[in-house]
Amino acid sequence: MAGILYLCATPIGNLQDMTFRVLETLKGVDLIAAEDTRNSVKLLNHFEIKTPMTSYHEFNKYEKAETLIAQLKSGKDLALITDAGTPAISDPGEVLVKRAKEEGITVTSLPGACAAITALTLSGLPTRRFVFEGFLPAEKKERRAVLESLKEEERTVILYEAPHHLKGTLRELLENLGDRKITLCRELTKKYEEAPAMNLSEAVSLYEEKEPKGEYVLVISGADPNEKKEAQIRKFEEMTVEEHMQMYLDEGLDKKEAMKKVAADRGVSKRDIYKELLGE
Ligand code: SAM
Repeated sequence: MAGILYLCATPIGNLQDMTFRVLETLKGVDLIAAEDTRNSVKLLNHFEIKTPMTSYHEFNKYEKAETLIAQLKSGKDLALITDAGTPAISDPGEVLVKRAKEEGITVTSLPGACAAITALTLSGLPTRRFVFEGFLPAEKKERRAVLESLKEEERTVILYEAPHHLKGTLRELLENLGDRKITLCRELTKKYEEAPAMNLSEAVSLYEEKEPKGEYVLVISGADPNEKKEAQIRKFEEMTVEEHMQMYLDEGLDKKEAMKKVAADRGVSKRDIYKELLGE
């Protein structure tokens, strides 16, 4: 019978956040796959876990997944842990889970610490609807596309960021999203945990004066729907009726539909638009 893949969440800074179930599981499985074995050995020593460990990281995630799948198929139980937090969230775990499920292997997830959720809950920003973007892509074009999509995003946005990229990212966020609210969650669950709330412009100024240190989760307020509507109205007001019509005709609408849309956007009747177009 094939073994089970256990996804084990580990603390993100405070060892007391280890769960009993994860502890028992790590002791009981045949093998632990860890993102950084040198880092995880400290965790295993602290909890006196003697289970053998193997590495599973960004640079071997595809080939090593096959080795781990073969071990699972041979009946071994395997636990996956990452550097910190919940496996498969902004780390290579996703690849192994996908392969295991494709091979019909049982996968189970043992919940625990996750930096994104911890940050969201203490951000003071709306938590009912949120979007997790992980790290912004490093590749320029992809990064621009994500930033562009966030301009319209009304849900609270959660981002991960490394300290050496923080200043640049804050500036880019301000440029693209405007002066939204942000909570800078730093060193969560650790001795120097802090989560100051401010505006993006204040965050940019703050880090002009000091060097970012430690791990960060950025929680940013979503776009204000009223502001978006007002910006759109301003845009329409700056257009002539002809330009406004042309915008919809270019989108493929016929003249009648375009006129209906233009009238609705400008809060006037179709008849008014018709008269305006005739120059009356
Ligand atoms: N799988 C992990 C989880 O559950 O959150 C995240 C892994 S990701 C490679 C690492 C990033 O998570 C860091 O760069 C930082 O943005 C965030 N992070 C992890 N621990 C943190 C902490 N204690 N305080 C603030 N951010 C943290």
